[in-house]
Amino acid sequence: MISSFAHCKEQLEDGNLAILPTETVYGLAANGIDPIAVKKIFSLKGRPPTNPVILHVSNIKDACKYTFIDENAEKLAQHFWPGPLTLILKKRDIVPEVATAGLSTVGIRSPSNAVFRKMLTSLSFPLAAPSANPSNRTSPTSASQVLEMFGDLCPPIMDDGPTELGIESTILNLSSKKLSILRPGHISAASIEKCLGVPVSTCIELHEEHSKLKKSPGTSKVHYAPKTPSILHKSVKDCLEYKNITPNDLIIIHSSRDIEKFDRLPCKTIALSKNGNLNEIARSLFGKLHDFDKLHYNQFHLCLNELKDDLAYAINDRIRRACAKNS
Ligand code: AMP
Ligand code: MG
Repeated sequence: MISSFAHCKEQLEDGNLAILPTETVYGLAANGIDPIAVKKIFSLKGRPPTNPVILHVSNIKDACKYTFIDENAEKLAQHFWPGPLTLILKKRDIVPEVATAGLSTVGIRSPSNAVFRKMLTSLSFPLAAPSANPSNRTSPTSASQVLEMFGDLCPPIMDDGPTELGIESTILNLSSKKLSILRPGHISAASIEKCLGVPVSTCIELHEEHSKLKKSPGTSKVHYAPKTPSILHKSVKDCLEYKNITPNDLIIIHSSRDIEKFDRLPCKTIALSKNGNLNEIARSLFGKLHDFDKLHYNQFHLCLNELKDDLAYAINDRIRRACAKNS
């Protein structure tokens, strides 16, 4: 149910759940240092206990209460917080094991959404807040998507309209010598390298390494998936040449400018943006997948973004995972 700030605050203080907006996606929040409250997140999401949650704090000073902030972390937090950058750091004992899936590290970030920040400053604890969706479904970018996904079980929601960025935070592992991005997002490897003056590896190199190490379980291949079977196409050209498109399919492309090319195909085509703007695509991707998922299409056809750009890379990461069940 859509609720008030005061009610959500009360719920959180009582060790219960509340749904809060962040600048990335809506989060399912609970007291991040109360193991019983954190367990409620896992249970409502159906999240495997092996998939750690991220702690959200107001500022670097609070981050120091829960993690060991080294020089790199301090520089990055100064530069990118509040904002969509999660840092993986060695955890302090106060952080319960259930939050970190037994790891000695914890993900921490300071979000920029004003409502979320107001909540953090009014509470005496950090908030664990993974995306407010059942495990493996698309992350919600509006309050109505959260309500639809959780139904009667939905905790109170603070509605703050559609989220500003639409895809989840960049996750950077600072806990090993080699800095690595575990999940791409709006904050690019290049901008992190520029801030620190050291190299940062990106997911392509790291996916394998991490699946071996099982260090970042949420980066498993199937994630963010719509219920409708979704076929991945490497390019607009590949999609246009695909033979098995039926009238009840939906083709999802990036720019309205390409729509005409699809006129000759037997099904509907929609675009995620007017002219290929990557911010607009990131903002609309999960919402569109969620909305079209309700319309009983046979299958979705999703094209990868062909731009060589860090945000395109982050968008493609989500699109690949949306299609992973079918590839
Ligand atoms: P979310 O569901 O958006 O909150 O994302 C949480 C993701 O952060 C998890 O699925 C992991 O991939 C990643 N994560 C959180 N904590 C850690 C950690 N200690 N080490 C590595 N990855 C982590
Ligand atoms: Mg998530």
